[in-house]
Parts: sequence; C-alpha cells; structure tokens
Amino acid sequence: MNIKSKPNFNKITNQLTIKEYTFDKKIIHQHCEDWRKKYFGDSELILFPKTVKSLSNIVKECANQKISIVPQGGNTSLVGGSVPRNGKSDIIINLKNLNKIRYLDKFGFSILLESGCILEDIQNLVSKENLTFPISMGSRGSCQIGGNIATNAGGLNVIKYGLLRSNIIGIEAVMSDGGIYSDLKNIKKNNTGYDLKQLLIGSEGTLGIITAANIKLFPSYKDKNVIFASCNKFKNILDLYFFVQNNFSDLLTSFEIINNDAMELVKKYNKDLTKYPERGRYYVLIEISNFLGIDSFKDFIIDKFFNLKITDVSLIFSKSEKENQNLWKFRELIPPSETFEKLCIQHDISLPLDKMENFIHTTTSEIQNLIDNIYFINFGHIGDNNLHFNILSGENTDIEKLNQKKKLITDIIYNNTYRFGGSFSAEHGIGQLKKKEMIKYKTKEEIKLMREIKKSFDPLNIFNPGKIF
Ligand SMILES: Cc1cc2nc3c(=O)[nH]c(=O)nc-3n(C[C@H](O)[C@H](O)[C@H](O)COP(=O)(O)OP(=O)(O)OC[C@H]3O[C@@H](n4cnc5c(N)ncnc54)[C@H](O)[C@@H]3O)c2cc1C
Repeated sequence: MNIKSKPNFNKITNQLTIKEYTFDKKIIHQHCEDWRKKYFGDSELILFPKTVKSLSNIVKECANQKISIVPQGGNTSLVGGSVPRNGKSDIIINLKNLNKIRYLDKFGFSILLESGCILEDIQNLVSKENLTFPISMGSRGSCQIGGNIATNAGGLNVIKYGLLRSNIIGIEAVMSDGGIYSDLKNIKKNNTGYDLKQLLIGSEGTLGIITAANIKLFPSYKDKNVIFASCNKFKNILDLYFFVQNNFSDLLTSFEIINNDAMELVKKYNKDLTKYPERGRYYVLIEISNFLGIDSFKDFIIDKFFNLKITDVSLIFSKSEKENQNLWKFRELIPPSETFEKLCIQHDISLPLDKMENFIHTTTSEIQNLIDNIYFINFGHIGDNNLHFNILSGENTDIEKLNQKKKLITDIIYNNTYRFGGSFSAEHGIGQLKKKEMIKYKTKEEIKLMREIKKSFDPLNIFNPGKIF
C-alpha cells in the first residue's frame, strides 16, 4: 500500500486514554517479533483500545488516512500473521484490553465474551460453572479468543468438538470503514441469507477486527482417562483409532500420535518425565472422558484388546488427574523442546488417514537421500488428519547443508502432501509463511474468489496487508 503523506497519529490517539496507546519503542519492539522469531517488523504506534466504540473510531480514522493495521491477540501465530511488516508504517492494534465476559448463559450452554480474553482464563472460568470450553491448545496461557477465531483454531479436542468454527454462534467485528457488524443473537438456528461470520472466522485479521463472540459451551467432564500406547506398525495406530472410535465415539476427546524421534527429544530435555510405555516407532496418546472409573476402564480396554487381538502394543494408563497431565506433557513439550536444537524446519499439514503411512514413508526416504544425521519429528492430532512433519538438527548435523536444503525439503513435503490428497496448512493458517504455497496449491478460481471477497470487505487494503495474499 502506498502511504502518501506522514500519518497524523494524533487523530488516532485522541480517541483513547493515555494508557491505551504507546509510542515507546521498547514496548512496541516486543509486539513486532513472532513466537518462532522468524518474522520481525516495525511500527511506530501500538494501541490497546478498551471499548468497541473507540476501536470503531480508530479504524474510521485509519481508513481516512489509509493507515494499515495489524490486529494482534496473544501473538502466538506460527505463520507470522500477527506482526507488522518491515518499513511499511503498519500500526498494531492489540486487543488485550477488550476482555470482558459479557454474559454466561449456563442454561443455554453459551458464553458471550470479548476478543481479548485469554483462552486459559475462559477455560478456568467455565469449569467453575461445571462447563467445558470446546477448544484447548499448547498456547492457551497467552492466546486470545479473538486470535483463536481469526485463525479458526484447532487444537487438542477437535476430534470431539470440531474446529472453533463449528462452535461459534455469533460474532461482532469492526469493519474496514469503522462500521460495527454485530450478529450476536443467542440462537442456534438463524438461516437468513449469507452467513457472514463464517468469512471472518479464519480470515487472519484481513477482513475485520473481531471484538466479541458468542460461543457454545459443553457439559463438564466427571472423569478423564488417558492411555499412552506404543507400537511399531502404523497399522496398529489405525486399529487403535478404529477401536476407540467404535467403542467410545462421543467419549473420545483426543487421539494424538508422537513418533520415536519426537519422544526421544522430549525425554532428552525433560528428564523428570519418567513414566512412559515401552519404546516403539510410534506412540499414541488417547484421552477418553466420562467413562465410569479407572479400574473398570482398564479392564474394559484390556479385555477388548485381547478379544480383538490388537497385539504389538504396549499400554500404560493414568490413575489420577496429575498423571493425566504428566502424560500430556510428552505431547505438549514437543514444540518447546524443538527450540533447544539449532535448526527445526516445521510443517503443519493434514492427510487422509489411509494415505498417511505411505506419505511418511515416501517423504522420509526422499529427504534422507538429500541429507543424513537429521531427525524426523512427526506428531499431531491424527484423529483430525493433522500431522506436524518437522525436520530437526542434532549434534552431528551439517547445519550449513541443512540450511541449503531447507527449501528443497519443504517442497518435497508440500508436493507429497498435495499428491496424497492433503493440505499444506492444517491449522496454523497462511500468514506470511505460506503465501507462495497458497498460490501454488489452491486453484485459480479459489484465489480469484478470495481476492474478490477481500476487496469487497476491505477495499483500501488497510487490514493486515501482506498476510494471506
Ligand atoms: C506452543 C504453541 C502451540 C500451538 N498449538 C496450536 C494448536 O494446537 N492448534 C492451533 O490451531 N494453533 C496452535 N498454535 C498457533 C496459535 O496459538 C493459534 O493460531 C492461536 O489461535 C492464535 O491466537 P493469538 O491470540 O495468539 O493470535 P495472534 O497470534 O496474535 O494472531 C493470529 C492471527 O489472527 C489475527 N488476529 C488476532 N486477533 C484478532 C482479532 N481480534 N480480530 C481479527 N484478527 C485478529 C492476527 O492479525 C493474525 O493474523 C500454537 C502456537 C503455539 C505457540
């Protein structure tokens, strides 16, 4: 975007109290770098508005002056979506102060809340009411619900509740002319023409600034049982998946895989984690909620396994909530453990389950032909087809060579993903990271329609330019 004259920031900050904005370079600096430290932009001004009205006035003024805006939540984006570009005079609007719970409807199983609410705070609040919030993920202590909606977040319980999109009843957002779009009726049936909120969900800050949402809640769990299994054949994972789906269906709340390299990485950096099943090529973490009690659960599983002749699987069962949390750490500590190694090339993809083994096998051997002494970190919410396929350096890796092969490796992974009928972005979105892949793997018609939607929602291109497109 061409900015013709120097922006008049006074006209923007006039809308706010002194605590709701800063020009302080040190504070702004913290909001300019992404979580993975891959993208670093700059900005002269960051705003923390407290009301929807003031946010609406700010956007109106930005539209007048053609000032581009980066909407920002907890800044945990893994695709560089939440930070400003370099040298483009983007301003940042961080939503952390717009954080009121407007209404908790216990009987209607829904909550109306503002964008800046932190995911973990929402989970804790609703659990006090004996209710469950439908999404959870490793970044829950920092990410905001507005950011979750803007990325159509997935996470650990998609297998039970679906992506966040399936749980949104209504949305309020400030649009690019400063107008306030509000569709917050607390009703589940509302077939009245185009469902515009669906376009805002997953739009990564490019179509509007989400200010509030009405979201479904669910009954609380009385009991949670976690099984941690290891096995050597991918077929065993599919058998386990079929078995738990068939026997527990709605009670199944997570089904995650971890391969041996990922497991060894976590063990290397977290020596306090000592309880795990026998070593195997793959590990599976299964969470079943609301079964009748740990002992009967264990008997039930072992009995069924025996009858079904699911062999070559080693199992351990959690006995308490504390043990549940310890077993979950093997899964949740993978991304932080990756950061202790020199180089990690990450890919968040999804694949049809029946093609996943072939994909892993083909892709691994193609990459091994390029470079040796590397680690293949495979893990993910496999019940939702999600696979994180990351290449990690170790002590004996030739880092320079790995850096040189980085692009080639990523091309192999995405080309094979496409070939096996998968998606190059399962849950993290496009941001700045996957713009090229979007053009390469989506059809011309899809891109054309997406551009037309962007133009119609944001004709001046002030919302998060340089992201997605
Ligand atoms: C350790 C870790 C684990 C993670 N696990 C998962 C996972 O399991 N599943 C998953 O889906 N993601 C995961 N993520 C990615 C990330 O946490 C999610 O994308 C999250 O939803 C982003 O929320 P946020 O508030 O941090 O948004 P930000 O990172 O601040 O922003 C993300 C995008 O949304 C836009 N945005 C933010 N707020 C608004 C708003 N109010 N209105 C309009 N646009 C807005 C931004 O411009 C940006 O494009 C993980 C990240 C980390 C660091």
